[in-house]
Amino acid sequence: MPIRILSPEIASQIAAGEVVERPASVVKELLENALDAGARSVSVTIAAAGRTLIEVADDGSGISAEELPLALARHATSKLSRAEDLFAITTLGFRGEALSSIGSVARLAITSRAADSASGARLKVEAGVAGRLESVGAPIGTLVRVEDLFYNVPARLKFLKQDVTERRAIDALLTRYALAYPHVRFKLVEGSTLALHTSGDGDRRAILAALYGVEVAKQMLEVTAEEEGPSTGFRQAQPASSGQGLRLTGFISPTALTRSNRKEITFFVNGRWIQDVPLTTALLRAYHTMLMVGRYPLAAIFLEIQPEEVDVNVHPAKAEVRFRSPDRIFSFVQRAVRRALLAYSPVPPATPSLWGAQAGQVDPAWRLAHDAYRGPWTEDRGNLPEEGQPPTVNGQLSTVIAQAPTLGQVPLLRLVGQIGATYLVAEGPDGLYLIDQHAAHERVLFDKLMAQHGTKNTPSQTLLQPVVVAFPPQSAHLLISQLPVLEHFGFGVEPFGPNTFQVRAMPALFAGSDPAAALRALVEDFEEDETPLQHEVEARIAGRVCKRLAVKAGQVLSPEEQRAMLNDLEACASPRTCPHGRPTMIHLSVDMLERQFGRKGVR
Ligand code: ADP
Ligand code: MG
Repeated sequence: MPIRILSPEIASQIAAGEVVERPASVVKELLENALDAGARSVSVTIAAAGRTLIEVADDGSGISAEELPLALARHATSKLSRAEDLFAITTLGFRGEALSSIGSVARLAITSRAADSASGARLKVEAGVAGRLESVGAPIGTLVRVEDLFYNVPARLKFLKQDVTERRAIDALLTRYALAYPHVRFKLVEGSTLALHTSGDGDRRAILAALYGVEVAKQMLEVTAEEEGPSTGFRQAQPASSGQGLRLTGFISPTALTRSNRKEITFFVNGRWIQDVPLTTALLRAYHTMLMVGRYPLAAIFLEIQPEEVDVNVHPAKAEVRFRSPDRIFSFVQRAVRRALLAYSPVPPATPSLWGAQAGQVDPAWRLAHDAYRGPWTEDRGNLPEEGQPPTVNGQLSTVIAQAPTLGQVPLLRLVGQIGATYLVAEGPDGLYLIDQHAAHERVLFDKLMAQHGTKNTPSQTLLQPVVVAFPPQSAHLLISQLPVLEHFGFGVEPFGPNTFQVRAMPALFAGSDPAAALRALVEDFEEDETPLQHEVEARIAGRVCKRLAVKAGQVLSPEEQRAMLNDLEACASPRTCPHGRPTMIHLSVDMLERQFGRKGVR
């Protein structure tokens, strides 16, 4: 075939394919235009899952009659004029492609009235060809009507999914944008049903219920975090208040609320819904060791970053971005989410009678909270009741529990003993606890090791007799790359000939353990990560070593050892799971025991 220049119609249809893939992409572009125009209210109507009709009405700034033809032209935009502007984008649109793309694959009609115009104007486009500009009566704002999407691109039509699927994509889009813009009123009408209606009063919780359902929405935890901009370089000339830092708001699920996939993880960056694998990974790492394998949290996270820190022009549908300092963003997200998770504690519902508390006595919930709070592992005292004036039992217990500190997640436990040389049995204020000694010890060692590591002064113990360990070449290579990390943790390891290492010292925490086992734990099935954040690597290394060196099931422990393990476990920030996410304990509440024995609920 000879080389030919494509006709403008075909060229624009091809280009449109990148922007308009399915009905939801049309809705997205029109929604973004409405938000860019400063709309306070956006109303979307669809029929047949958007195949036959998509209509978006807004009360934004409108388009003047003279500019209407231009708005429909390819590469025509009011949002950008110079290439440099690309790095200072504060609008959702900037490519000037949406309306022209939609116009080339559907029947399009735009009616708009600018705030300073006496009347509105309407322009229709069919298969990329514009009709005559009409003058019409219209409210201020814009109404875009898209009919018969892909009527002239039958191949595209074949790729559309079932109506339910296409409709779900539109629902997902609207609910997420509604959550991102709580001050805008959103309405979605599908056929004759009102699928979504938000009030625009800024209350995100209410919108969350539309997104996840009331029950789930109630459980979601709120996250907020802020970080100042970098403290060095030219930016310092600006006052910090110019918002050069990072801001994060949003909601995350508690560890008990999970899904089997990542679909409920949503990220917005500067008001734009984006798909970003590393951001999702950062979020998942915040949950690291707290979720069961194969379970994923729900999250809706809204990030605000200086426009010049994000490149938004990497994807025709603007669904991806690139960060200038990705690591800074990822660890910010991870820290913020982690903090929010730790600040939440499923304090078990307590029944005062079980504790034998009587009116006038010091409230046991307070005592519990107070004692847990005095642990050495926390500096943040939060909203703990003032010292010296413990509240007394007066029926107000629940309020105390609600403000109970958030870190001591297990109550004080009384040791009963060990069974099967595998489990510890303990009694708490609210029932029985069965503790897996291996998982619990793993958690204890891990937390201690990480805490010491944080102080940069890890107690190390020199071995009387250095131990030499040999590895297969691949593992040896891996070990060499992690030697500095090992040193941080208090290991003294050095290369000792090809693929061989000499261990001179071990962290004092592991005194008496097998050094060769510790090193092997490190390199066995260690997978190099695509984007290793250094402290993540460290946590992983610590996790592996602790798993290997923790007491095993079947190991008889002396009463002293059992008690020490319980005490240590109480001091952990996340005592209920091992670092790999398995539970360390099973709780049989008094309530549950009473039910099981038929003491309750019969009578
Ligand atoms: P972009 O949004 O990338 O600029 P579009 O093709 O989506 O490109 O829109 C072209 C232009 O039309 C916009 O720059 C804007 O000036 C105008 N426009 C589109 N939709 C609206 C709207 N709902 N309200 C006001 N102006 C609009
Ligand atoms: Mg646009």
